[in-house]
Amino acid sequence: MSTQIPVKDVTPAPAKVEVIDLYANREKIYTRSFTGIFRNLRMLGGAVLFLLYFGTVWLSWNGRQAVWWNLPERKFYIFGSTYWPQDFVLLSALLIIAAFGLFFITVFAGRVWCGYTCPQSVYTWIFMWAEKITEGDRNQRMKLDKTPMSAKKFLRKLAKHSIWMGVSLATAITFVGYFTPIRELIPELFTLQTGGWALFWVGFFTLATYGNAGYLREQVCIYMCPYARFQSVMFDQDTLIVSYDPRRGEARGPRKKDADYKSQGLGDCIDCKMCVHVCPTGIDIRDGLQIECIGCAACIDACDSIMEKMNYPKGLISYTTEHNLSEQKTHLVRPRLIGYAVALLVMFGVFAWAIADRSLVELDVLKDRVLYRENEEGRIENVYTLKIMNKAQHAVTYLITADGLDDLVYEGKREIKAVAGEVLSLPVELSIEPEKLPSSTNEITFHLQAVDDPSIKTNAASRFIGPSVR
Ligand code: SF4
Ligand code: SF4
Repeated sequence: MSTQIPVKDVTPAPAKVEVIDLYANREKIYTRSFTGIFRNLRMLGGAVLFLLYFGTVWLSWNGRQAVWWNLPERKFYIFGSTYWPQDFVLLSALLIIAAFGLFFITVFAGRVWCGYTCPQSVYTWIFMWAEKITEGDRNQRMKLDKTPMSAKKFLRKLAKHSIWMGVSLATAITFVGYFTPIRELIPELFTLQTGGWALFWVGFFTLATYGNAGYLREQVCIYMCPYARFQSVMFDQDTLIVSYDPRRGEARGPRKKDADYKSQGLGDCIDCKMCVHVCPTGIDIRDGLQIECIGCAACIDACDSIMEKMNYPKGLISYTTEHNLSEQKTHLVRPRLIGYAVALLVMFGVFAWAIADRSLVELDVLKDRVLYRENEEGRIENVYTLKIMNKAQHAVTYLITADGLDDLVYEGKREIKAVAGEVLSLPVELSIEPEKLPSSTNEITFHLQAVDDPSIKTNAASRFIGPSVR
């Protein structure tokens, strides 16, 4: 008789899996309005940038828009200069210089670019101002959002969105105006005669401005901007940061204005949270340096006004450095900063030289596919096509010559006129007696020189091919 052995399932029970949600809903930030020296500086900087952006597009130069990126003709006009796709290396150089400039400023003064001049910040401040004049200050807006829809609420919201949309539309039209002359674009837009692309880009940039400054706001800085990610690597202990002084501020707590708070063990922070309420990224600077801080100094203005009211010294929140906070000496001049400054100076010098030395004419030489031929007089002939690009903003007559071989004869038009911005194609022939040819392949050079301006000249190398020389 067989005996059954009881089997017991000893498989361990599956571990309880805890699901962590990596997505956090955005909590709407209601900022409080404030005044102060840094807010005034920011307004001044923003006004200058706005003037430049909205004003430059309306300037004229020699009967056309002064700054105009003419994409169909692949020409970029900046006042008296015309740039072509061949000059894009200059644009790349300019972008590299701008990047180094930003590195230099970041090492020295932290995120001042973000707080004062970044378009995302500037537009966010403008949109916040629109919010304030239509819906009221922080508490009124919070209350309004909690109340059910009414005619009054609808009108306030409508006014806010109308201003947001108006600013966004003006920004988009101006941007597209740098590519399509603005004096033609605006009437065409409002009579619906504009092209599909212009309409698309105006719509796209309107929505992008409206969405970024109206809704995304600090999310762009925290989650989308690559600069915000890598700049913390560039900070050192001497970089200017916005910081709260915990040695002076703690222990925080409310008190009466003239109370002897020191005897109660309190520091200078009255825990009013004004610094939090004015912060456009919604952080508490008293928790230390955070990646969300764009260095706008709104909290400095807010806290200074509180300190003034309490008759305490200003500067509980201030621009300072980590060395300063730990009572060590701040080094303004340091090797990394010097390195960036030297690199910037060198790059700027080379860029200025490249602009000054930029030729106003370009010459390309295309050799004919037939290597060579013998003409009726027994001379060896080579045929070329010269591509002449007049980059000047006026008509130029050029003189063409070729050298590199003794007794080389140029056959064809020697002088040719190109109007401003014209690209000419000119077929030319060179010939030589066979016995004068030193080799079957010979280096030659074409020269182009403006007849009435010796500074406008260029040359291009090519080859003269002949039969094998015995
Ligand atoms: S903490 Fe201060 S400086 Fe930083 S973003 Fe907020 S208000 Fe601006
Ligand atoms: S504004 Fe100044 S006093 Fe008020 S909570 Fe912030 S740090 Fe403290």
